[in-house]
Amino acid sequence: VWTQSLKFLEQDLNEQQFHSWIRPLKVIEDESVIRLLAPTPFILDWVNRKLMPNIQRAVAQVAPQDTPQVKLEIGDYDFDEPVTQTMPTPIAIAPAQPAAQLRVDTNKKTIKHKLNVNYIFDNFVEGKANQLAAAAARQVAENPGGSYNPFFIYGGVGLGKTHLMHAIGNALLEKNPNARVAYLHSESFVADMVNALRHNKIEEFKRFYRSLDALLIDDIQFFANKEQSQEEFFHTFNTLLEGNKQVILTSDRFPKEVDGLEDRLKSRFGWGLTIAVEPPEFEMRVAILMKKAAQANYALPEDVAFFVAKRLRGNVRELEGALKRIVAYAQFTQQTITVELVKEALKDLLALQQKMITLDNIQKTVADYYKLRVADLLSKRRSRNIARPRQVAMALAKELTHHSLPEIGDAFGGRDHTTVLHAVRTIKSMRDTDHVIDEDFSKLVRIITS
Ligand code: ADP
Ligand code: MG
Repeated sequence: VWTQSLKFLEQDLNEQQFHSWIRPLKVIEDESVIRLLAPTPFILDWVNRKLMPNIQRAVAQVAPQDTPQVKLEIGDYDFDEPVTQTMPTPIAIAPAQPAAQLRVDTNKKTIKHKLNVNYIFDNFVEGKANQLAAAAARQVAENPGGSYNPFFIYGGVGLGKTHLMHAIGNALLEKNPNARVAYLHSESFVADMVNALRHNKIEEFKRFYRSLDALLIDDIQFFANKEQSQEEFFHTFNTLLEGNKQVILTSDRFPKEVDGLEDRLKSRFGWGLTIAVEPPEFEMRVAILMKKAAQANYALPEDVAFFVAKRLRGNVRELEGALKRIVAYAQFTQQTITVELVKEALKDLLALQQKMITLDNIQKTVADYYKLRVADLLSKRRSRNIARPRQVAMALAKELTHHSLPEIGDAFGGRDHTTVLHAVRTIKSMRDTDHVIDEDFSKLVRIITS
């Protein structure tokens, strides 16, 4: 039906309208529904306001009986995954189908650009590493446009930033299905803008983004060095804040540390609330594995969860991946899930993990981090600026490798195992009271394990 409707539309509309607005739509259709997927929030909005009557007329002309319903949605261009249920109103998002041409700096195939209904607060596991971020996110969902504006979440990959961001968006829409919530990756914002510029639609673009109730932009580090986009975003951002509309941003690092971002943007990002998500600690890793397994109806024995959580210390995405592999392997070989099976299923992953995290590697990373030489760490020198990093390095060695205390002592210039134990305990208790040490430690874990 759609293919024929297009012919009607082509006659009905002028060429420019047809090319700018109808051509970019993708379609998924069956007998009863034609789902039109708009590549960008902005195109969606436009088609919805201006061209829906024409579209409906064309469809009705082609299929006067049992006329299919026409639904306009934001599209993913990611047909590998089942298209998730769509939200009532302009959920927005965007990486435009021309994104492939516009995008220069990544080779990712697709960018997610609509609210994922599976990313909600209910299935977000909380632990020490993310509880501040989660609590703040709930606050934002309760009270959008309030004092946590903008709300800025930063942290390494796979730690739940995107999940939290969607959870807020989903909660906002649950409370108010008519809220104009747009989620998009920063590259999509850039793509959408370039597209608007190219089609002389920048005024509409501005109006669209500035009319939102909540704007969620993911991974803003990709704005780096895109001056024009930063400029446009800056104004959009200001307009939204002035109107008490909620802005939520994520990035892989602290806003001030994002290179290639204008200072005025960096400083503005700090006006609301900036919160880190840290790599999950052991208990949380166990909880995540158990919860994800339960959600998918797998019986995951506790000892298996412990084993995996102990070996894989990176991020949540990695844990999810491991779990999928374990389950697939168990189903494939028709065995029950045991530690033995896991060792087999994750052989390469575990080997990799083991290989990369060596004492050498830890020493080198810590030395770099504190701008010392490895020789300093191994030396007998006791000045605070060397002794503390040395203790951090030993604590990391204990946490991240399977080496014994004496082995670690040996590797650190032939120290006694009690010295190592003391270091481990000191750092553990300092992490509870001294946030600088705590952050240093978390960052180092991330660097070493990623
Ligand atoms: P990021 O945006 O920080 O790179 P994501 O939000 O994409 O990370 O998370 C990666 C995957 O891990 C997602 O599938 C997400 O649902 C899951 N995930 C991350 N943190 C948690 C958590 N605390 N509880 C449950 N799932 C999580
Ligand atoms: Mg993300």
